[in-house]
Amino acid sequence: MPGPAITPLRTPGRAPRVLTIDAEDWFHVCGDDYYSDPRRWDSFPSRFDRTFTDLLDRLDRGGHRATIFFLGWIAARHPGLVREAARRGHEIALHGDLHRRADELTPEEFRADLRRAADRVEKAAGVRAELHRAAEWSIRSPEDPALAILAAEGFRADASMTSMPPLGRAGNPLGPHRVETAAGPLIEIPPLTGRGFGRRVPAGGSWGFRTLSPAKLAAAEAHYRDVGHPAVFTFHPWEFDSESPPMDGLPPVTRLVLFAGRRALPARFDAWLAQDRCVSLGEALAELQVA
Ligand SMILES: [Zn+2]
Repeated sequence: MPGPAITPLRTPGRAPRVLTIDAEDWFHVCGDDYYSDPRRWDSFPSRFDRTFTDLLDRLDRGGHRATIFFLGWIAARHPGLVREAARRGHEIALHGDLHRRADELTPEEFRADLRRAADRVEKAAGVRAELHRAAEWSIRSPEDPALAILAAEGFRADASMTSMPPLGRAGNPLGPHRVETAAGPLIEIPPLTGRGFGRRVPAGGSWGFRTLSPAKLAAAEAHYRDVGHPAVFTFHPWEFDSESPPMDGLPPVTRLVLFAGRRALPARFDAWLAQDRCVSLGEALAELQVA
């Protein structure tokens, strides 16, 4: 069966720098027998309030706007912080309910998790989210059935698909594109990637942002923006937390991804913010045209 039709999109002229934040707590990792079990989450000491508020304060100082993907689970426990993010002018979006990987859920489970998250975030924010990001870039390719579910549930855009193996398929578009799903069109807007260690790496967030040289990051960002691809950056409140629990039981590779370069991140992030103004995904989407 042929895949869905895809239409490449671009920003006319130079594309913006887009800031996104996945609003989750330090224990929201995927695929770990201990930490990923939601029945345990209420017993962990939450650090979300202070880390998230600190991040909002950093953005206020430069007048930056972000799209904030909230877990429904977080919105149910911190509704005041969802409202506070909206009050400060940020765009409220969805990161699912229980931080489950989309490619590990049946279509029915994915829809149920999405609806529960949408209801919890709407209850907190007073607005229905229209933008979505799955946990760990887990919408793998344009054929993924999750995209049609998102379109059917009223979402207009998704930011879950990368072209970096093994997370996404290498042939996925680097830039934004419209996918004609069985339930209608959905815009997919991939994260910024760059070249490092001889391969494509996640320049726009996580350990890529924390460990690539500032010169490599700047080159990756300039390349995307110059060809009309919004440069989508992604951060998590827990990355900025110097007192986050060490999570000793995790596999060494997972700990490396979660913890490498964290100590230098706050200063590095502030210097990066000072270079240019960040906009939300919604602002970037409004400028997109057929390439
Ligand atoms: Zn996440």
